[in-house]
Amino acid sequence: MSSTALAERPTCPATPAHGYLALRDPPGGWTPEQRWCGTWYDCTRCTSGVLYPSRALREQLAAQAARHRAGCPGCPGPAHRQDPWP
Ligand SMILES: [Zn+2]
Ligand SMILES: [Zn+2]
Repeated sequence: MSSTALAERPTCPATPAHGYLALRDPPGGWTPEQRWCGTWYDCTRCTSGVLYPSRALREQLAAQAARHRAGCPGCPGPAHRQDPWP
């Protein structure tokens, strides 16, 4: 069992009545990229899934956001998330 697994399992984000999500267990195993990103959980009753970002991914996103804000004075932040942040 992965050390990044949550103590409390998430529920289906689309239809809460679907109940708990299952830890993703791809037939070919996790790729290094997937492992790096975090832990995926999938609903067994629909196609919904959620990613719990790893510490490495969260740190990279935080660093990207900080770099963006440094070059974007008065940035409204998530309001223009459609922009590709550098
Ligand atoms: Zn579902
Ligand atoms: Zn900005």
